[in-house]
Amino acid sequence: MDKNKINLLKQKIDTADAIVVGGASGMSAASGFKFYYQDDEIFRKLAGGLADKYGFTNLFDGFYNPNLTKGELWAIILRLTKYVYECETGETYKDLAEALSGKNYYIVTTNQDAQFYRVFPADRITRLQGDWRYWQCKNRCHDAIYYNEKEVMALSEKIVNDALPDELIPRCSKCGGYMEPWVRGRDFLQGKDYEKELERYMNFLRTNMNKKVLFLELGVGMMTPMFIKEPFMNMVYQWPDAFYATINPRHAIIPKEIASKSLAINDDIAFTLKELLGKSTEHLTRDDKDNIFDPGRIY
Ligand SMILES: [Zn+2]
Repeated sequence: MDKNKINLLKQKIDTADAIVVGGASGMSAASGFKFYYQDDEIFRKLAGGLADKYGFTNLFDGFYNPNLTKGELWAIILRLTKYVYECETGETYKDLAEALSGKNYYIVTTNQDAQFYRVFPADRITRLQGDWRYWQCKNRCHDAIYYNEKEVMALSEKIVNDALPDELIPRCSKCGGYMEPWVRGRDFLQGKDYEKELERYMNFLRTNMNKKVLFLELGVGMMTPMFIKEPFMNMVYQWPDAFYATINPRHAIIPKEIASKSLAINDDIAFTLKELLGKSTEHLTRDDKDNIFDPGRIY
């Protein structure tokens, strides 16, 4: 790890008037949450017998497998959402919270796993891709999202042979159609809650645009760069005193137009944050470069 880069990042965090954090899948992957895209113990637990029945080897492919029955899909949704509620808080998140403690920051994320909510106040977070902990009407017949913890816990108990019985699949109280998780997809509801969060983020940007602003990009892949990575680069280019720092094992990319006001740390986020905080990295293992989890496939 390049000590000069760590020192520069530290200095930028210390001296910034405002820090805009863009956190994506790489943040969760660095904490060990890799089951969306790889075959591991957690994936096997969430997929149950469906992995072998349909021959998929990660949760992402499971969700998009067209052969799953509705009840089977709901079994995976329920197990995943229950896991989102019950899993440990990732170490990268705890370390980031420590690094930003006392600072004027705002978080924008494409993650749907709610990990940022474990360590940061909700009024400083904007979710661009939804959140598994909420449901919406699939028909979008009305503008509301519903916190689902109670329902998820109860329905998880009703899964039989890797499927939720049809009559238990959640229905909309208004139109009678199906409910579905509030996560980006064809029917994703960008209603009043979404707009409110987006406006809060825009306000933070407007308030600070002429100050010393650090844009800190953490693990944004190349699947959806338009939500975080590209706007960050554009604002750094246009704003007088903005600086761009990216910590990204695979996609720490800097366009030449902003090279003089940027820092790329091409390494594991978990290691980088530990070194930033002067903590031991002994218990961490670096993914081998050839076999690294690919955030480019991630929302
Ligand atoms: Zn409805």
